[in-house]
Amino acid sequence: MSKRIADALFPEIKMTYQEAEALYPPRDLPDGAVCTRFAPSPTGFMHIGGLYTALLNSLFTRSRGGVFFLRIEDTDQKRQIENGVTEIIKTLDDFQIHFDEGAVSETGDSGKYGPYRQSLRREIYQAFAKYLVEIGRAYPCFCTSGELEAIREKQEAANALQKGYYGEWAVCRDLDEETVLKRIANGDRWIVRIRSNGKLGNTQVYHDTIRGDISMQENILDAVIIKGDGLPTYHFAHVVDDHLMRTTDVIRADEWIASIPLHVEMFQMLGFPVPRYTHLSPIMKNEAKEDGEGVSRRKLSKRKDPEARVGYYDEAGYPVSAVLDYLLTISSADYEPWREENMDASIFAFDLDLSKSGAAGALFDFDKLNNVAKKRIGHMSEEQIFSAASAWAEQHDSKLYQYIQDHAELFRKSITVWHEKRLDVAKWSDLMEMYPYLYDPSFSVNVKTLPEAFLPHKERIPAILTDYLEIFDYDDDAAEWFNKVKEIASKHNYCVKMGAYKKHPEDYNGSIADLSSFIRYSLTGATNTPDLHGIIHVIGKEATLRRIMAFRDALR
Ligand code: GLU
Repeated sequence: MSKRIADALFPEIKMTYQEAEALYPPRDLPDGAVCTRFAPSPTGFMHIGGLYTALLNSLFTRSRGGVFFLRIEDTDQKRQIENGVTEIIKTLDDFQIHFDEGAVSETGDSGKYGPYRQSLRREIYQAFAKYLVEIGRAYPCFCTSGELEAIREKQEAANALQKGYYGEWAVCRDLDEETVLKRIANGDRWIVRIRSNGKLGNTQVYHDTIRGDISMQENILDAVIIKGDGLPTYHFAHVVDDHLMRTTDVIRADEWIASIPLHVEMFQMLGFPVPRYTHLSPIMKNEAKEDGEGVSRRKLSKRKDPEARVGYYDEAGYPVSAVLDYLLTISSADYEPWREENMDASIFAFDLDLSKSGAAGALFDFDKLNNVAKKRIGHMSEEQIFSAASAWAEQHDSKLYQYIQDHAELFRKSITVWHEKRLDVAKWSDLMEMYPYLYDPSFSVNVKTLPEAFLPHKERIPAILTDYLEIFDYDDDAAEWFNKVKEIASKHNYCVKMGAYKKHPEDYNGSIADLSSFIRYSLTGATNTPDLHGIIHVIGKEATLRRIMAFRDALR
């Protein structure tokens, strides 16, 4: 116990911990309601795992009722980036994740439990640290990094079961009061550590919503709570803030599981109730093993995987609703069947059961993402597609944007062509990629590499196309258009009835499907496309004639 040491460390701190506590009264929440938070550090672009955590927090809170707040964990001042908070708020807002309280701009807050930026809460942490020093549950440590290194080396040499700063290794733990006061007065640099009561070999059972009861070695480390710059460590800030802000459920990434014993010891030494913990498994990815034998599973990595960055999805043009559907699909087995039945429902209508989200980790899978996104786009109205794709193109694809600017009505028509009855488009960047023949004014068919299936017909194709050009009328409706194609087919002995053709292919040069594919290919350079009559009406009369002639002439 040392009030003298506490005062010498924190002479400026006049607020007592009781006064700090009184600033944050318990919340008046209805029965069963929860209080949760998303607590990012503004240290760079947002990771998809961060969005995932925020989304599950938000859904959990909406389905239980209660308060969801945004806390900015900016205690690692060296790692901050400019406009980091704005970036976080904008990303979350884009993904329909809204908060009841918290940071609302780079410097602004909203809510009674703030400030919601940890760097502005220095006094509060110090008040609690001061209290812990006073009651003997924390102490200043003067060890330099060299001294800490030397302790570690000795532990290695002694083969200590547990490394780190604790028990007899913790050289500052039992310094006498006079020495401590002298060193503080002397200006020696210090940090503050807790004085752990844990014993090596003692286990305790901790609870996690997903993993259930977990038996772990209790904490024995004299962990740092106040750093050299006077700011708290993550661990201490978590305990103080989640108590004062009255968080009922801490839903965070599972990298913090190993810290539960430390956190629980700190909650207890401060006399605070321990919140419910839910540790979310990271999003994983299968990767081919280097020796080529099978796959191994690893975390999505910021460095290796572009899809780890939330911005990636917007750049590629995945609709927000598709990314949300996807994240929930991989998080919870109940989601996909629910979504199929409720395509129009808000994600917040889904009753998320976190305990079912599994400890193995959601698996990132591009095929799944694309399937989910195709269904989502398939379900969008043409008007929704028009505005979402236009907005995306304005930001990310100047060529497509120009096309839309110049030909808004044709763009609208083109959506009907590829959208009706098809689930091909997963993201807006697919449009130019899959349909350059619709949207790229400089499009031309590469005649050098003909599809293999065309080779037996090669000699006949120019004559077929010439006939087609002759009877082509841009104003024909779909039925008239198809009758004309049939006429040409009969003339060139391409069977117009697929059933008959299949029975006796030897009697014909080919089928109507073959013949249509020559026209199709000359216009699109592809053999599988949406409805051809529709395509012609998007690319227009002139381009249709020009492309067919160019293809025919190149074959002659
Ligand atoms: N700032 C911490 C992080 O970004 C928050 C963890 C938590 O939710 O408590 O990892």
